Amino acid sequence: AFTTETAVAWLRGFDEKVAAQAEYLTQLDSAIGDADHGTNLKRGMAAVAPKLEGAESLSALLKAVGMTFISKVGGASGSLYGSFFLEVSKALPDAAEAEASDVEAALRAGVASIVARGKAEPGDKTMLDALRPALDALGASLAGGGSLVEAAGAAAKAAAEGRDATEPLVARKGRASYLGERSAGHLDPGAASSALLLEALAEALA
Ligand code: ADP
Ligand code: MG
Ligand code: MG
Repeated sequence: AFTTETAVAWLRGFDEKVAAQAEYLTQLDSAIGDADHGTNLKRGMAAVAPKLEGAESLSALLKAVGMTFISKVGGASGSLYGSFFLEVSKALPDAAEAEASDVEAALRAGVASIVARGKAEPGDKTMLDALRPALDALGASLAGGGSLVEAAGAAAKAAAEGRDATEPLVARKGRASYLGERSAGHLDPGAASSALLLEALAEALA
């Protein structure tokens, strides 16, 4: 099952990955944006870290993460990741343990909130190009009888492939879209950070 401890390990893992790759993420954003994606996420996760201890439930934990992102992180990613975590929190039980189906539903709600807020479509070269295939892979694995561990592994792999597939795309949302055709030939920074989020989830469950 997915417990509060699993969720804490997930978020700590994401914090570590973001901190380790902050310069790389910012470098991706300097090619097609304003060179702050790594800094934004690192600041957000550093503010989240002290809130990971002693959460009473899964929903309380993820709510604290979402609120922190919304208040501490500027830019598109602050509000998009913020609303992702807030919707994940609402869909998780007010308990210390969740079923695999709850986790799937929660991630689905989180991704749906990014769509509702950012209005990006598949192939627009955004974080959704990593998150959506990840969610599809997770759902397919669970539907086929896979465990949550297996499903999260499949999701992480799909997210990494989705991230890589953003390279040739022309951005149609966010700052990168200002570049038009010149945005092609670079990975999307948000897709890269979202792949780290799924990688951290798979590692926390393994
Ligand atoms: P900002 O662009 O405000 O500086 P960041 O650099 O932190 O914010 O985040 C940029 C990332 O946000 C992009 O790489 C992209 O993945 C994501 N993004 C931007 N706009 C949207 C949108 N409308 N829908 C989904 N994701 C978006
Ligand atoms: Mg930026
Ligand atoms: Mg910015």
